[in-house]
Amino acid sequence: MAKAKYVFVTGGVTSSLGKGIISASLGKLLQARGYKVTIQKLDPYINIDPGTLNPYEHGECYVTDDGAETDLDLGHYERFLNTPTSQANNITTGRIYNNVITKERKGEYLGKTVQVVPHITDEIKRNIFLLGESGEYDFVITEIGGCVGDIESLPFIEAVRQVKWDVGQNNSLVIHLTLIPYLKAAKELKTKPTQHSVKQLLEAGIQPDILVCRSEMKLPDDIRKKLALFCNVQYNSVIEALDAETIYDVPILMLKEKLAERVLTKLKISGKTEPDLHHWKDFLGKLKNPTDEVKIGLVGKYVELPDAYKSIAEAFIHAGAENECKVDLQWISSESINEENCHSVLNQFHGILVAPGFGERGIPGKITAVRYVRENNIPFFGICLGMQCAVIEFSRNVLNIKNAASTEFDENTKHPVIDLMEEQKKITNMGGTMRLGAYPCNLKKGSKTSSIYGKTKISERHRHRYEFNNKYLEKIEEAGLMASGINPDTGLVEVVELADHPWFVGTQYHPELKSTVLNPHPLFVRFVEAALYHSKKEQELVKIRTT
Ligand code: GLN
Repeated sequence: MAKAKYVFVTGGVTSSLGKGIISASLGKLLQARGYKVTIQKLDPYINIDPGTLNPYEHGECYVTDDGAETDLDLGHYERFLNTPTSQANNITTGRIYNNVITKERKGEYLGKTVQVVPHITDEIKRNIFLLGESGEYDFVITEIGGCVGDIESLPFIEAVRQVKWDVGQNNSLVIHLTLIPYLKAAKELKTKPTQHSVKQLLEAGIQPDILVCRSEMKLPDDIRKKLALFCNVQYNSVIEALDAETIYDVPILMLKEKLAERVLTKLKISGKTEPDLHHWKDFLGKLKNPTDEVKIGLVGKYVELPDAYKSIAEAFIHAGAENECKVDLQWISSESINEENCHSVLNQFHGILVAPGFGERGIPGKITAVRYVRENNIPFFGICLGMQCAVIEFSRNVLNIKNAASTEFDENTKHPVIDLMEEQKKITNMGGTMRLGAYPCNLKKGSKTSSIYGKTKISERHRHRYEFNNKYLEKIEEAGLMASGINPDTGLVEVVELADHPWFVGTQYHPELKSTVLNPHPLFVRFVEAALYHSKKEQELVKIRTT
């Protein structure tokens, strides 16, 4: 295809309808027909990016290869499409205004009054077209965060209206994702909220082309007809989106509802209509027919909000399917773990992952958890802060450095086994100043980690300020915790592992950010395998004890 087509996904009635999953599913269905697709998210909040947001506010902050701190929907885009995203895929109101104000200060508006229309909307459009005009994509799918009618998303909606004119009829379309609630008392599905949200779009000058209707019940024909009539869309452009068992079912549900076919027809694209989804279906087959089950405990401090560890949870789904094994992932609050209860809390798990995080809260529980699994040969996986806790625990309890700590939670510790690098010490701004994005790492030949990856040169994504302090490297390695992954440019330790333990790996980077349906991350795959092995061993022991 010569020119990129622009597909917009707006949301109505309520948030949390799954615009990200619908966008990713449409992307998948187009990609499976051979088209090149990218998905972008426009977020209406004023923060420049979600990097400074507390996970309780906005869930996980997803980091791309180029070091952008982005919305967690970008994780879905990558997991579904298996193609990397970048800063260009996530733009916030804050970033738009920042760019416009910077231009204004430079005098680039030549004395004009700078206004929402056209200057802010032009900047929004520039960011949409940037992807389309790169020549890399046949489709740019742009998801507009928030709900139609929100004050803050108005400039984005106006930009969508303008793009429709700029690129012409057959080059853009709008999908409106909406909710059809079921009223139990009336035993009826209700279309009125959707009618109202479409009316709001119409007031902004946008006629949606396709309605995707989230519903707990199947949409009967008369409801589809009613929606088509009142919302001014074709009957076959009313798409039903039933609640799914897993997000990975959604592309298949959308295939059955012919979402991508409608998009292609409306954009006057003829050609291959049968998508090749055999990899996806293989994955679903394995996901839904597990032959084993393991119980994995995730020790973290944001456990009330599962979205805080979204990519880790998804990486376990990919790794579970790869092992044809159901992963029962349970969240354990690190604040609830102590010396007295760690056996009863942790012993029931076949593997423990100590999660990433920031600040002091819950650290003692994480360190206690590491000690317990290290001493009891339970598979352990530490990610970022989890790896740092493993280094602290090992220094304290194996090397006997009693007050070993990270300067993140004990600024004046005598033994900063985890510390800030010199360049980080000078930084005062919080936004975008961590070690972010992809960094190369060399794995030691013969290490467990290099055999897991099947190679020695890797690249993984980072998001942290503190690092393994190389002043302690020799001592720590001598005592048995091997620094098996090293950054070739800086010498920083990126991976640690224990040789005399069934599975004990800590990574300074975030492997979960690169696990996709097509490429489950090897560390997660092998961690689940180790947990499975542990559970089998346990079962054997129980058998021996009871016979
Ligand atoms: N708080 C730690 C640091 O900044 C770990 C960060 C993380 O787990 N992502 O280094």
